[in-house]
Amino acid sequence: LSDKFQNIFNNLKKKGKLSEADVKAAMREVKMALLEADVNFKVVKDFVNAVKERAIGDEVMESLTPGQHVIKIVNEEMVALMGSDESELTFTTGGGPTIYMMVGLQGAGKTTTSAKLAGLLKKKGKKPLLVACDIYRPAAIKQLQVVGEQLSIPVFSMGNQNKPIDIAKAALEHGSKNHHDLIILDTAGRLHIDETMMDELIELKEVIKPKETLLVVDAMTGQDAVHVAELFNEKIGVDGVILTKLDGDTRGGAALSVKAVTQKPIKFAGMGEKLSDLEVFYPERMASRILGMGDVLTLIEKAQSNIDQKKASEMERKFRKAEFNFEDFLEQMQQLKSMGSLSDLMAMIPGMSAQMKNVQIDDKEMAKMEAMILSMTVEERNDPNVINVSRKNRIAAGSGNKIQDVNRFIKQFEQSKKMMKQMSGMMGKKGRRGGKG
Ligand code: GDP
Ligand code: MG
Repeated sequence: LSDKFQNIFNNLKKKGKLSEADVKAAMREVKMALLEADVNFKVVKDFVNAVKERAIGDEVMESLTPGQHVIKIVNEEMVALMGSDESELTFTTGGGPTIYMMVGLQGAGKTTTSAKLAGLLKKKGKKPLLVACDIYRPAAIKQLQVVGEQLSIPVFSMGNQNKPIDIAKAALEHGSKNHHDLIILDTAGRLHIDETMMDELIELKEVIKPKETLLVVDAMTGQDAVHVAELFNEKIGVDGVILTKLDGDTRGGAALSVKAVTQKPIKFAGMGEKLSDLEVFYPERMASRILGMGDVLTLIEKAQSNIDQKKASEMERKFRKAEFNFEDFLEQMQQLKSMGSLSDLMAMIPGMSAQMKNVQIDDKEMAKMEAMILSMTVEERNDPNVINVSRKNRIAAGSGNKIQDVNRFIKQFEQSKKMMKQMSGMMGKKGRRGGKG
């Protein structure tokens, strides 16, 4: 899916200004891409309409190209589609343990996710108990015991001769005796939804009254996952969805549709088979993953809020004329800093992170340079030529550096200026537009 989006956006990027026809054409492609990714039809329709309406009616921001502007809207709508204010787990307050009941089809990942979740919350200071309520699959109890052991989390089981509801009741008693503040019930699933399973789960829920019923669905099954979620929610009522196997899902269809169809938040994402592979679900991350643009969107946003266009073009003029001084340098550094660390910034540019692996961008070095400039007087910043030995000593002392550091820094700065001059001189001759040499 992300390849498709890259293509659509690349075409838009080439445009200077977007017409209504451009937006409509792009949205037709977005629609096709989403449908192919197995996103629910109605969700696609609403999504495309929402984006179209905003893109056509919107004033394009000054600092963005029209193409970037559409990317921004698509991204924001995707985040809205998947996001929710209720995506955090809730806990029972005041007496009694928090009980979560895991439900879902066979193979969705209930047992694995029960353990992963228990592990995650144990790290946050909870004392979890896992309960084996799946009495139908022969190896189900053993499986839970194995993962529980890996995490050093106790597992309560009573074999497969008792009804799930009796196991759950006994587990609650055992849990309170042993001061567990979190009880996670791993229930049985079927290959397909069937009445007996549903009735059993409904009864279990009524009697146990879990704080949350968490539905586990396999993201790789696309729209089927959404359909399953809809049915479970109708019959049993769920509080949140955990999307598993997102590591193997390249289409994003289930992630994009589940919340819109069921109105239930996606709370966690399973990202692999290892017990540590469970993450809080972040709609922003998922959207940029689906759009396949690294964190380029964050970059757009940051750039937008931080860089003053006028200042930037003034800076560029100075660069060209090599009039650049320490004062300008300081301003550039501070602007960069307000956008996060330089290495963070580089990492956000798609394709850049790989290339930058060998290049060290040293934020410490930047801080050092900044301190030296800050120790200079305005006169010194504007004209480094006035900096003599005694001034260098003062700058070194003021910035907590050695005089050699100050020397090296000024020398490097003068060298880069010289280089800039040569470069802009060459460009001037080539283009035959440079008035001065
Ligand atoms: P259950 O029948 O719902 O209890 O499902 P299981 O917990 O037994 O999981 C079924 C299979 O899916 C197992 O092989 C798991 O290792 C695998 N699985 C579960 N969650 C994930 C996930 O997030 N990513 C991947 N790649 N595999 C998963
Ligand atoms: Mg299981």
